[in-house]
Amino acid sequence: MSHLFYQGRQRKPMLAQARGVYMWDEGGKRYLDGSSGAMVCNIGHSNENVLEAMRRQMEKATFGYRLHFETEASERLAAKTVEKMPEGLNKVFFVSGGSEAVESAMKLARQHAVATGQGSRWKVISRRPSYHGCTLGALAVTGYAALSEPFAPMMREMPKIPAPRAYLDGRDPDDPATGAHYADMLEDCIAQEGADSVLAFLMEPVGGASTGALVPPTGYMERVAEICDRHGVLLIMDEVMTGAGRTGAFLGGDHWDMTPDIVVLSKGFAAGYAPLGGIVARDDLVAPVLDAGGFAHGFTYAGNPLACAAGHAVLEELDRQDLINNAAEKGAKLKSRLNALMQRHEIIGDVRGNGLLLAFEFMSDRATKAPLPKDWNAHLRFVEIAYENGLIVYSRRTRDGVEGDHILVCPPLTVTDTHLDEIIEMLDLSLRQYTAELPA
Ligand code: PLP
Repeated sequence: MSHLFYQGRQRKPMLAQARGVYMWDEGGKRYLDGSSGAMVCNIGHSNENVLEAMRRQMEKATFGYRLHFETEASERLAAKTVEKMPEGLNKVFFVSGGSEAVESAMKLARQHAVATGQGSRWKVISRRPSYHGCTLGALAVTGYAALSEPFAPMMREMPKIPAPRAYLDGRDPDDPATGAHYADMLEDCIAQEGADSVLAFLMEPVGGASTGALVPPTGYMERVAEICDRHGVLLIMDEVMTGAGRTGAFLGGDHWDMTPDIVVLSKGFAAGYAPLGGIVARDDLVAPVLDAGGFAHGFTYAGNPLACAAGHAVLEELDRQDLINNAAEKGAKLKSRLNALMQRHEIIGDVRGNGLLLAFEFMSDRATKAPLPKDWNAHLRFVEIAYENGLIVYSRRTRDGVEGDHILVCPPLTVTDTHLDEIIEMLDLSLRQYTAELPA
């Protein structure tokens, strides 16, 4: 009997080993990790250079509390992280995961407002659907009804605007009018809430689990940044899933001409080698907070030297193996092959994403965009079939967590053409098997 409990899921086989893009269970069955865990293991599993850097750090010290010591590992990772940021983002605060990082970004923004005489600003506008974490603060800005509803009385729900799902609304994503249409919803929301009460706007540059790799329409990002700027609203970019190269640029936001005020990182930051997250902010955001007595926030494991040593080695591997360019190149190939699968499989209604953050959505009718019947639980069943076939993919409800089904295909950035062949073959087989079991 196991003493663990999770989210009510069926128990899975015991993991025996993971190397590169593959994982093996105790029975010796091999799986291709087509979702990098939960879009985490960007550089693949068991990278020897990262393991060696971690061993070296372990020999020195595995823990040093931040009130007692600085550590070389956290200094080096902060410096390397800043090198990869847009100009001006040069102050780093480490945590151990994505939810902690989102909380930290919101609290830094709030403390900056208080320290600069803008204490009336406290609302963080975000989008629906979106996912920003499971702690109560992060959940309050998460637009995913299925996850937040039970906790509603315990949270101060924050304002939400619709995510720019042009494909569902029948709008052309390449038409700048579409980008403006959705961005202007932010302007309207700020006006409705009262600009002097709005602290920040929080978004993922490319949607992750909640929307299934939703890429914003042309002009959206630039206009959102301009609206935030004009209203003195801080722009917080949640790069937990998109960061560290996943979309074919170091940050998902690097694909557009805009600079956020705070960047939120986790997942690919230490790529699963250790729990690590962080926020990166402009000096002038941090300085007033420090001058006013310091950031009233922090976790015991913040800046953990082992996690930071892992993160530093991961960023070095991204450079050494040129993995961000590989993500762009292999991502383009994989996306066109997913589009080819869509030609063969009527059940796929949309393929989207950039770099190696890709997804397809099931629909019962491409013309009306109607989802599959909710009680088919298509996303869960499809993942199960793929798993049986030796392919790990990640799935969620597409429409506010309530209905709709998308499958994320996000292998490590180390994938080769041969791995892509394997992924497509197993997806094709799984789609045929899934379609065959559907009611006529
Ligand atoms: N933000 C985004 C965009 C995420 O995708 C996630 C996790 O999936 C989080 C925040 C929360 O991260 P964590 O699960 O590490 O707390």
